[in-house]
Amino acid sequence: MHRREFLGGVAAAAAGQSKLAAQAAKPGARFNAIQMGPHSLCDEGIDHALDLIQDTASINTVMVYSHMYHGGYGKPIQMFAPDHGVTPRDTRNRKLPMVWVKYHEQSFKNTSLRHPAAGAGVEYANRDLFTEMLPAIRKRGMKLYARILEGAGRDAADHILNYAKVETRDVNGQASTTPCWNHPEYRAWWTATVEDMFRSYELDGLQWGAERQGPLMNAILPWNNNPPSCFCEFCRARGRANGIDPERARQGYANLYRYVQDLMTGKGKPADGVFAEFLGVLIRYPEILSWEYQYRRSREEMQEAIYRAVKAIKPDAQVGWHVDHQPSSWDIVYRAEMSYAEMAPYSDFIKFIAYHDVLRPRIRFWYLARLQRTVLSELSLKESLDLYYDVFGYDKSREPGVDQLATTGFSPDYVFRETRRSVASAEGKTKVYPGIGFDVPWGANPIPADPDKVYECVKKAFEGGGAGIVVSREYEEMRVANLKAVGRAMREIDRNRG
Ligand SMILES: [Zn+2]
Repeated sequence: MHRREFLGGVAAAAAGQSKLAAQAAKPGARFNAIQMGPHSLCDEGIDHALDLIQDTASINTVMVYSHMYHGGYGKPIQMFAPDHGVTPRDTRNRKLPMVWVKYHEQSFKNTSLRHPAAGAGVEYANRDLFTEMLPAIRKRGMKLYARILEGAGRDAADHILNYAKVETRDVNGQASTTPCWNHPEYRAWWTATVEDMFRSYELDGLQWGAERQGPLMNAILPWNNNPPSCFCEFCRARGRANGIDPERARQGYANLYRYVQDLMTGKGKPADGVFAEFLGVLIRYPEILSWEYQYRRSREEMQEAIYRAVKAIKPDAQVGWHVDHQPSSWDIVYRAEMSYAEMAPYSDFIKFIAYHDVLRPRIRFWYLARLQRTVLSELSLKESLDLYYDVFGYDKSREPGVDQLATTGFSPDYVFRETRRSVASAEGKTKVYPGIGFDVPWGANPIPADPDKVYECVKKAFEGGGAGIVVSREYEEMRVANLKAVGRAMREIDRNRG
């Protein structure tokens, strides 16, 4: 189907379609970005995809992955929106690039790590997307940001050259596929990467993120049975330099890990109580908390290094951070460690995830269920959920109760409260962009969003003090009705506030 025909078709249902389309052609005043996969632009066609997001959602900034080490391919086909006017293409049986930008060897003098050359048979290997799409982006008055999610699994370990060198070491000295923030070659590799990108491409900004939690949360809210990290030579040196005995920290984490593993296998119910025993480990090994804080500091230093590297090349580029769902919405350790104001000196913006629908199963199964197997097993699920709502400042009278978590998503009030909290934490020192998420699947199962709720979430993001929004998670998942709900809200906000 021709694009115009298609857009005409989907828009015909809305009253005043031509008037809305005319308004949408001009980019709105407020930051209204969208997250897109590079393959989506190639699969759908650059003009088609850009027209669709501008005509429906009034998008004015495009955030496109420059690297795909985070495992972004391989989704089941039912996770793709069927109504973009182009038949979605399955990414599972295709070889697609890990890296969508071209590099210059001379930028990588301080590290032995390298991005892979495009292998044989990789589709789109001959494309230079960030150069190709620029005229189409500029023509529409849009901005172009590169978007990066650090890889920490097989897609990173199998593709990045010399990666084994920078892998973290657990309490037993074993390597994992997660890289270490404190390894100088790993840090140098990221700074070289962004420097080279900003030298080579006309980018307006960068959103960089790393979806991992610290060693303390990894111990008590574990994703897997891996022992805690990192105790490599660089982390140990950092600990010593900050007055922490690395061996005491290692022993503390080993004990905490063993305790939680015993709880999960039903072996370790202590006489003094499950939570009391957890506190007991922290009291005997206060180095656990100090080590966790150094982990966070090292993460922030990585971000600061990336920020400085980009600014040295392009001072007016906007550089900010993807704060994923766990730190934005249920990792109390992350929240306690640092305010957004403390991050502001190296943050042009903080984009935090506020996905109202998919938070429901995530809280049910990633948070409540796991804590019930570990340090909060003395609470009922209802008590644990009430505690969560109260500690995080969400309104439990508006959010789903335990019985509703199977069916009812979080409310737009969650978006409002988390935005307001984040803006307060930033103290006016950096911009806050809530990530409005819709049609984000749970596992392989789509959770189709309600357009009216999407509309409300966008409005609430601005009521909460957000300086803009990032439409999330992935363009390839977003239904047209929900993109149009974003556009409806943005046009109202632009109109009402001048
Ligand atoms: Zn380390």
